[in-house]
Amino acid sequence: VRRRREWFRVLGVLKEFEQGCATSITKLRKVVDAMTTEMYAGLATEGGSKLRMLLTFVENLPTGNEKGIYYGIDLGGTNFRVLRVHLEGQRSTTLKHEVERQPVPQHLMTGSSEELFDFIASALEQFVSQESNDYESRDQGRELGFTFSFPVKQTSVSSGLLIKWTKGFAIEDLVAKDVSECLQRALDKRGLNMRVSILVNDTVGTLAVGRYHDEDTVAAVIIGTGTNACYVERTDVVVKGQCFRKPSGQMVINMEWGNFWSLHLPRTTYDIDLDGESPNPNEQGFEKLISGMYLGEIVRRVILRMAQESDIFGGENVLSKLSIPFILRTPMIAAMLEDDTPDLIEAARVLEETLQVPEIPLKVRKLVVRVCDVVTGRAARLAAAGIVGILKKIGRDGTVGKVSIKMKSRQMRRTVIAIEGSLYTNYSRFRGYLQEAVVEILGEDVARNVILRVTEDGSGIGAALLAARYASVR
Ligand code: ADP
Repeated sequence: VRRRREWFRVLGVLKEFEQGCATSITKLRKVVDAMTTEMYAGLATEGGSKLRMLLTFVENLPTGNEKGIYYGIDLGGTNFRVLRVHLEGQRSTTLKHEVERQPVPQHLMTGSSEELFDFIASALEQFVSQESNDYESRDQGRELGFTFSFPVKQTSVSSGLLIKWTKGFAIEDLVAKDVSECLQRALDKRGLNMRVSILVNDTVGTLAVGRYHDEDTVAAVIIGTGTNACYVERTDVVVKGQCFRKPSGQMVINMEWGNFWSLHLPRTTYDIDLDGESPNPNEQGFEKLISGMYLGEIVRRVILRMAQESDIFGGENVLSKLSIPFILRTPMIAAMLEDDTPDLIEAARVLEETLQVPEIPLKVRKLVVRVCDVVTGRAARLAAAGIVGILKKIGRDGTVGKVSIKMKSRQMRRTVIAIEGSLYTNYSRFRGYLQEAVVEILGEDVARNVILRVTEDGSGIGAALLAARYASVR
């Protein structure tokens, strides 16, 4: 009788969690509208919204006609990349390029900016020193696009001031300094004839690659460890006290959408606790519901609660194991949810290895898989609502004018969103839920014109493409 009562309590935890995470179509529509409203607010005034809506000064995107050899570097996480692209003057499905990756040495993440940029300059020096003589005879110098994926206040397409560090970096002397200038100084010091002509973040790089391949690309979304998005805005609506009536009439806006918040977002006590115990409470609220860094952690918190309600897992050390923050990582959640064996053998393996208990009963495995499903579904559906919010802002959601549905789909322009990040590319259940929700919100006729296209290595390559594009307009 006691066991049955405990099991009911566990089911009660599940039910309450499911209700808290619910993303009905009505709810998703409210999130869409909130995203659109916050976009307007963030554009109107500095600090007008949790959405920073940063101006990137990128007014020209690659056309596919760029020609020549350009360089890119990508700094934004644990890996650092140097690359070179060869552009032949016409769009091709594959972009000819060479990349070298290396981890950023831990001590450089918290040292001085001089050390960090010297490390980057030395990697570049080595990269170009291995080139054959054809490249070396390029006495006009080399153009470099810099992907720097931290919050930056851009001052031009090639310069910007670091607002703050994230992702474990903490080099205090660089805060509020011009990032490109520091890199340029390090390059000059080594006598490298290279010019930093582009400074962007990774989403803008993804958008550039998307546009290079497909001229209907209007936005880019990254869903990996974190999440962010950018899109092409008309310059006559970009305000923030600045006047941008340039002939091109458009500018890429870096939304920093990870920080989006709305009271319509479904949030549970587990999310509130996760946020409260995070190093950045009340920040990156959307990201904490969606991205790879957090999904496993939300699942851990729910099943810890279940294990406190009842001895469902057996074993003595389960509670202490389950109390370790981040012990369940998002790829484990994916592995458990994508386990299609009838007995959930994969889920059993992941749980038994992580919690170090043998023979977890099938009904408990099913329960855990259900929690993984709820967390994944909520994340993917909210990301979909965010994307539709962008489409609505730029009038590509099929709601413009009072025309019949049939007319709408005929009038609706083909619209491509470039997407990167492991959650979307490597987690098929997440991808499926996201795509399904886009169709659910937009309706099939409109959704038919919206293409979510995966790009590869956008950060880095995109900056090099922009260096090429800007060389051609100078
Ligand atoms: P970045 O760190 O640059 O965002 P990725 O786009 O590869 O890099 O994203 C890494 C994140 O994606 C990690 O947080 C990880 O938890 C998650 N992830 C990686 N592979 C998978 C997978 N197969 N299924 C679900 N999540 C994954």
